[in-house]
Formats: sequence, C-alpha cells, structure tokens
Amino acid sequence: MLPKELYGKLKKVLAPPFQITLLTHINPDGDAIGSLLGLYWFLKKKGCQVSMAIPNEYPRFLDWMEGTDRILIYSRQEKQVKEVLQKADLVFYLDFNEPGRIGEIQPVLEGLDVTRILVDHHPEPECKADYIISVQQVSSTAELIYQLIEGLGELELVDTLIATCLYVGIMTDTGCFSFNSSQPRTFEIVGELLLRGIDKDRIFSLVYDNYSEDRMRLLGYSLEQKLVILPEQRTAYISLTRDELDRFNHAQGDTEGFVNYPFSVSNIRVSALFIEREDHIKISFRSKGDFPINTFAAQFFNGGGHKNAAGGESYEPLTDTLKKFENLIEHYSDEINRLP
Ligand code: 5GP
Ligand code: MN
Repeated sequence: MLPKELYGKLKKVLAPPFQITLLTHINPDGDAIGSLLGLYWFLKKKGCQVSMAIPNEYPRFLDWMEGTDRILIYSRQEKQVKEVLQKADLVFYLDFNEPGRIGEIQPVLEGLDVTRILVDHHPEPECKADYIISVQQVSSTAELIYQLIEGLGELELVDTLIATCLYVGIMTDTGCFSFNSSQPRTFEIVGELLLRGIDKDRIFSLVYDNYSEDRMRLLGYSLEQKLVILPEQRTAYISLTRDELDRFNHAQGDTEGFVNYPFSVSNIRVSALFIEREDHIKISFRSKGDFPINTFAAQFFNGGGHKNAAGGESYEPLTDTLKKFENLIEHYSDEINRLP
C-alpha cells in the first residue's frame, strides 16, 4: 500500500478543473505506454482535462491500444507538446527516475510553474517532484497506477479499457510473468483486472503476435549471424549496425526484447544488445540474480535502470564499444561465475 496521507493531498490536485499532462520516457515500452494510457483514461473518466506527451515514437506493436492516436510525440509535434506543458497545472512523470530520460522535453519543463508527480519503480529517483510515488518492489509502473487509483478509493472507475492498458504494462515489464513478478500482490492485481473483463489471451496476441515480417527476419538474422557467446564469462551479446537495421527496414521498437533471447542458451547470466544509432550506440543490458547490471550500465555506459534490466549509451564506434564491453565483462568474470 502507498502512504495514506498522500491521497488526501492528491485528491485535491486531481480535481477536474486542473489541466493535467502525462509524460513518459524516451523509447517508450509497454509499461510506459500502458501506464500513460491507463492513467489517461482514468483521469478522463474523472472529468479531468488531460494530455499525453512522449519524446519519440512508441513501438508499432502497441499501435492497437486505444488512445495511442492522442499521444503527442515531441520529435514531430514539438509545438503542441510545448503548448500542453505550458498550460498544465499538473504534470505526471511515469516510469522514469532521471530527468534525462525524457530527452528533449526536459528543458521545456524547466521554469514551468506546475505541480509534478512522479510514479515509478526504478531505484533512487533523481527527478524533482512535489509528490513521489516510487516503489521498487512492484512489477511495473502500471501496477503502481492501479495502487494509486485504489488509494484514491476510485477502483470502481477501472473499466475494461483502463484494465487492458494496465495489464499491457504489467505483462510486458515482467516478460509475461517470468521476472519482476514474485510478489503475490502483482497476481492479485492481475486477478482484479481479469474481473474487469480484460481478454488476457487476446492482449498477449496483440502484443507478441503482431510484429512485421521484417522484424521477424531481423530477429532470425541477429540470432544466426550476430549472436556472440563468451562462455567463460557466461555472457552473450548481439550487435546490429545501421546498415543491417536498414536492410530489414527497421522501425522503432523492432529490436525490443531481442536482448532476452540469449538467456535461452543454458548457463548465460549476462546479455547485452548494441544498436548503432545515428550519433551513438544504444545498449540494453540484462542480468540474472545478484549481478547488478544497472550499476554496470551507470558506471561504464552513461546509463541505469533496474538491477536485472538496464540500458546505456556509448559515443565510441560500435567495434570499440564491443571491445570495451568484452574487456569489462572479463574483469567481472569471477563475480559472474560465482552466480548460481
Ligand atoms: P531497455 O533495455 O528495455 O531499453 O531498458 C531496460 C531498462 O533500463 C528500463 O527500465 C529503462 O528505463 C532503463 N534504461 C534504458 N536505457 C537507459 C538509459 O540510457 N539511461 C537510464 N538511466 N536508464 C535506461
Ligand atoms: Mn517500467
């Protein structure tokens, strides 16, 4: 449960005359968009004036979600995003812990006279906010949104649409309940969402059986041609150059989830995915057990995230970045080999 005294205050600021803008992080994933839309439809139902804005495109496998067409995308709707932020009395920060995670929206927020509410499940939030709902033990930000609505005493407003959005967040952030989902509360909440009429099998299909042929072939290519296994370090990684991505008509979100595949090989404890972007390398890191990959990402690759799922960036060429990663991982061999 979230602290009670918070709700008395939140009830006042979530009243209908307020203009509310919801924000989530760059390269938004299922939890980012699920939380954003779930909270959006809840606040709309309460009669609030709400807008949603994100730094860049959301992945196309989330296109089917109701309300995605209402999300303002800063990379192509800069003016509209600035307008809704300047008008806002209240801004929600969803699913991120560092101001840099909203990319170019960050400077727009500086100096704005708004109340800020952070709802997130990453460790050690660094965002300045008037209200901070930051709980690491939950599966996802979507689960926190459910708890927030519960704390406000307004669960009766949660209909099939809101429940579907929140379920997408919980399902994707737990890898379909294979990690971040050892708290019974997560399953109790999923039970509540089922009672509100969600079609969980259909949601699974809409998210995971909804990729393009290009994405499927890029995955095949990545696993067959680009998977590197370092058995001594129980580590595996995949790297993709811009040429390779172009060859498969890469679209935003196509490589989402690729980083999890190397764990299908027995004994792998660390996995990484390196994607060459225009001016930098975007990296996804995953680990198993007590190897904190977020610390590794923060220390060596300007990143962060959760203990077992983090990301970072490199401004060195791809080959140098891979060399650096291999050297660093070699350095951590003993620690990785001590993992069960
Ligand atoms: P993904 O690999 O799926 O992009 O991200 C995994 C996790 O790491 C997410 O929780 C995400 O918020 C976090 N993350 C990804 N990239 C970055 C980054 O560049 N900086 C920080 N601080 N966190 C990141
Ligand atoms: Mn999340």
